[in-house]
Amino acid sequence: MIRKSGNRFSEEIMLKENDSGLSRFAEPELTRPITTVRTVRDLRARVAQWRGAGERVALVPTMGALHAGHLSLIGVAKAHTSRVVVSIFVNPMQFGPHEDLAHYPRDEAADMQALAGTGADLLYAPGADEMYPQGFATQVSLPSLTEDLCGAARPNHFEGVATVVTKLLMQCAPDAAVFGEKDYQQLLMIKRLVRDLDLEVEIVAAPIVREADGLALSSRNGYLSHAERKIAPILIQTIGHVASDLAQGRGCDDAAEAGRFKLEAEGFRVDYVAVRDPDTLAPLSGPLKGPARVLAAAYLGKTRLIDNVPVPFSRR
Ligand code: AMP
Repeated sequence: MIRKSGNRFSEEIMLKENDSGLSRFAEPELTRPITTVRTVRDLRARVAQWRGAGERVALVPTMGALHAGHLSLIGVAKAHTSRVVVSIFVNPMQFGPHEDLAHYPRDEAADMQALAGTGADLLYAPGADEMYPQGFATQVSLPSLTEDLCGAARPNHFEGVATVVTKLLMQCAPDAAVFGEKDYQQLLMIKRLVRDLDLEVEIVAAPIVREADGLALSSRNGYLSHAERKIAPILIQTIGHVASDLAQGRGCDDAAEAGRFKLEAEGFRVDYVAVRDPDTLAPLSGPLKGPARVLAAAYLGKTRLIDNVPVPFSRR
């Protein structure tokens, strides 16, 4: 079962214990067969067919290893358009030389099974040669939005994401594209690039789907050892405490520092705990004067976890 909004600050979806959530997001009456295309040409042909019939199309970009968080994006897409394309592409351009590209979980058969009954119509799964043919030379970059937070620890990561997302949007030309708030910096970057490049697509944000204990679903959670998995929900609990402190008038730097201290005491190697403007990601200081977003990234062993919550502003 799924309950909405487990935390006073955010719109989010919590799974029940021992529930993968995969079947929960399937709609059994929607048993349209899903076909797979691997080329830009086939993708465009299918989308043109739908457009010709007056239908609207949404794109849900993913790197596969689909979990209930990804499937929830399809549900959000279905609320906007009659047709949904899911893309699966493990984008080499967004992985650093010492990151987990080679080990990133890939199982297209399992992903197809997960997609069955979700209402998705088409899987677009191009190979690396289709996405980056010989001689590929273009990069899309938004330095002002991506130099710090996750961008500081992952040089070139966001250039890789911005480039592939721009390509996916131009290849599919959807009316809407859905991205999770789980990757909040990425979401803001994509909204910005769509505005800056005049792309005719509505970027739709989807709430974070969480395990029953609060841990945000992620394809990388599978890397956690049993002991690390037990500690992992402390990340969102700590972010929640920072948000509560802010709501009670504590200064941004002070609240973030207390969050970092708590995480380190629990065995995390902290990358950042930050309080930012929810629209621009500009750093905030002192007691809140408007809404904010608390974002954090921290390692447990070799696994990097990220999470975030909004902090609404109410005048006390
Ligand atoms: P990924 O496959 O990790 O690149 O993620 C593909 C999309 O799924 C991105 O828009 C993510 O923000 C979104 N996503 C990943 N995890 C979650 C989650 N737990 N809840 C909601 N959306 C998610």
